[in-house]
Amino acid sequence: MSSLCIAGGRVVDPANGVEDRVGDLWVRDGRIVAAPADPDARADRTIDARGYVVMPGGVDVHSHIAGSKVNAARIMRPEERRDEDRVMRRWRDFRSGTIGSVPSSFTTGYQYAGLGYTTAVDAAIPPLGARHAHAEFGDVPLVDKAMLILMGNNHAILDAVREGDFARVERTVAWLLDSSKGFGVKAVNPGGVEQWKQGGGRIAGWDDRVDHFDVSPRQIVVALAKAVDSLGLPHPLHFHGLNLGLPGNWAHALEGMQALDGLRFHLAHVQFHSYGGSPDHPEDIDAKVEPLADYVNTHEGVTVDVGQVMFGETTSMTADGPTGHYLANLLGRKWYNHDVEQEDGCGVSPIEYQDKNFIHALQWAIGLEWFLRVEDPWRVAMSTDHPNGASFRSYPEVIALLMDKNLRDETLARLPERVRARSGLGDLSREYTLAEIAVVTRAGPARILGLSHKGHLGIGADADVTIYAPDDDRRRMFALPRWVVKGGEVVVDDGELRSAPGGRTLFSALDVDPETRADLERRLAEEASFHPANFRLSVDDLAGPHAVSRPKPG
Ligand SMILES: [Zn+2]
Repeated sequence: MSSLCIAGGRVVDPANGVEDRVGDLWVRDGRIVAAPADPDARADRTIDARGYVVMPGGVDVHSHIAGSKVNAARIMRPEERRDEDRVMRRWRDFRSGTIGSVPSSFTTGYQYAGLGYTTAVDAAIPPLGARHAHAEFGDVPLVDKAMLILMGNNHAILDAVREGDFARVERTVAWLLDSSKGFGVKAVNPGGVEQWKQGGGRIAGWDDRVDHFDVSPRQIVVALAKAVDSLGLPHPLHFHGLNLGLPGNWAHALEGMQALDGLRFHLAHVQFHSYGGSPDHPEDIDAKVEPLADYVNTHEGVTVDVGQVMFGETTSMTADGPTGHYLANLLGRKWYNHDVEQEDGCGVSPIEYQDKNFIHALQWAIGLEWFLRVEDPWRVAMSTDHPNGASFRSYPEVIALLMDKNLRDETLARLPERVRARSGLGDLSREYTLAEIAVVTRAGPARILGLSHKGHLGIGADADVTIYAPDDDRRRMFALPRWVVKGGEVVVDDGELRSAPGGRTLFSALDVDPETRADLERRLAEEASFHPANFRLSVDDLAGPHAVSRPKPG
């Protein structure tokens, strides 16, 4: 494979202690390599990066880009794609597609790469949806992809938790993850989706019982977090707690984190879990970021992504079926409910976040508070929970807000007055540095995911590199990288896509003992509506399969 030299750029590589230092990067065979000993050596191609900012490719720790929920949203929202400017025509070797809050598959890859993002994780795939999602990953070029597998409402898991048989929980997690070729484990409203599906209403507390299974959300999430750790997965349990989006839910978020005290975990789209007030008095809602961020600041094993809300039209999609139902009723918009037998549920509904709407404006402020109140940027990751809070295409705008208090104040000034009284955003003067932006958009998410070859530019790292023209308009700077390199190949040049290699699928390779597999597949054969032979995926079903194991400590 050919070699590449990115010469003389301002390298921002916080994982290797490099905040902003002029230097050369050498690339060979898709990896960062040491500079050749011979000072006269020339690469096959040299990018003159003098004056430009050089960062690792972006890593999205929490997004929704494939599988049944995403396709339900595409089908549900033809109105988003009717205008000529929403259609991307086929050009050169690139495929046609549509944009909008839920872009089509190829377009998703093009748009991520166009932003300088080279890795994206879909955070909510049920095991039964994995075959479809992997097929679709094959149609999302330019980014390396991984999926988190939903287990918090899976019958086989709930049964094992009820039995109090931890070894069985662990074996079941390994079997589900291996069968779906997933990367990590996700719990969404653990037990609560199952309860709602059975007509039992909403689970509100961590010690409520799930009918039929007689287990509590607390038991489920603790068992899953322990299993993830004992299996040595690269990424800790990724969880979405109870009462998502409801006033007063901050106390449940805190209790959920306390339930996992001492264990590694990642709390997803934490903005949606940080509301004061109470369900009976929604008008009392306020920002409750401070006590939650304090918990994160004082507990090292805890990481979060934000789920920032930005103003505009988007589509909500959540494996939290009850929340999808609640939102659709509240907003009176169309709604799609998807039941995944024995495994999970899902709700999809359009939403428009309006700056004149007090609740939406408060959500915007709460997200920014999270970025500014978590002291260690390594433990708070950029996300809009695409497309729930906004499209991932809003990241440059979020970055601009983080780097500029004046810009935040200007926006705050035009929002409903109550937002200023009910959130502490106006008092926060912190402004992110370029290195901190590199942490929350690439180095941090890579570390949170346990991807030791991502998010940095040290020797041996994947040669995923984004090169920006410095610009006082940070939004423009981060929206239009000058060059993007994926696996050593220059895929964006002069702001234009030049090629679209497929990207890899990252998964966790696990051993499952044959007895466990036979036992669990026998159960599937008895209870499920499909033949168990269709359940298990093989590595051949993946596009560019790449097994990842947990980085060694130190
Ligand atoms: Zn999500």
